Amino acid sequence: MSEYKKHVDSLPDKVDKTSIYDYENDTLSKVFEGFFNFCSTNIKTEWPKFDVARCGFFYRDQAVNNAMAVKSGTDIWIEVNNHLLESLYKKFNVEKKAVIESLPEAALLKNVVPDDNLPYLMFQSTTMFLYYHELGHILQYDKTDINQRLSENAAAGTAAQFSLERHAREMDSDEFAANFLYEQIKHYFNILNEETKSREILMALITTGIAAIFVLFEMLSRGFNLPIYFEERTHPNTLIRVIGISGIILSKATADFGEKYAVTQPEVIKRSFEIVFNLLEFEASIGNFFEAIKNERVNIVAYSSKVMQLRNSLTWMAGVKLAALNSNSSN
Ligand SMILES: [Zn+2]
Repeated sequence: MSEYKKHVDSLPDKVDKTSIYDYENDTLSKVFEGFFNFCSTNIKTEWPKFDVARCGFFYRDQAVNNAMAVKSGTDIWIEVNNHLLESLYKKFNVEKKAVIESLPEAALLKNVVPDDNLPYLMFQSTTMFLYYHELGHILQYDKTDINQRLSENAAAGTAAQFSLERHAREMDSDEFAANFLYEQIKHYFNILNEETKSREILMALITTGIAAIFVLFEMLSRGFNLPIYFEERTHPNTLIRVIGISGIILSKATADFGEKYAVTQPEVIKRSFEIVFNLLEFEASIGNFFEAIKNERVNIVAYSSKVMQLRNSLTWMAGVKLAALNSNSSN
């Protein structure tokens, strides 16, 4: 019996097992297996650091792009729909493979990313980010509330379903996941020889990573478009989310490398969005995007500060716990 089947069998009875996806005969079974292995290894090695109770990861057989973080009593688990993993895989490795391979970033990252395969690395960045984003929600679950369930499908939510705390949870989970996306970027950059390292390569790793995450958010919200919204809906606006993620990645890069490679946020945003426009179709033009960000700059800053202020005041948030863990381990 496969590890996955053993794992599914070991799940508590309270988990609805009727729609759990068994990927054994899927044409992408290796992809499903790889992501399952990544998650289950991470659960065994990393979760104990955060004192998370019993947990698990499995796939749901559902034709909707969605993922969930669930808490039921002391049992906690992450569900990812098979449809989402397939959509992401196909987007990067089939539909847009040739487009990605023709980007200047693909030429720059030749011999930098594994197997020269930028489309696959972008796909992998989305799954890794998704996993850590869900883990972020898991860490947010306190020990008193009995049942909690957060769904990532923002398309079903209406404008009226807004809650500032929910936006804070989402931004917090994004920040948590961005830390790990940055670790991956740093890893591929640091294994290069000193002479090979360049500002262009660091920039290419960051912008293709951010563009990949934009595609993930777009899939979960089924069609992104302007205008930028603020205090509405279950999830924050995709543009604001990726601006926040780029800020975290760049502040970590500056902490590690100082001003040596001097990659700035405006140029990262600009280039990431240019890459996104190669991968997705929008009603608005890229010029409209940049104009909207410019015109809404003050509102974006005010909204983000309000959300993060709330986040920072709540000790159970994942980013707050991660910062505490990092400062303890460095003492
Ligand atoms: Zn979320």
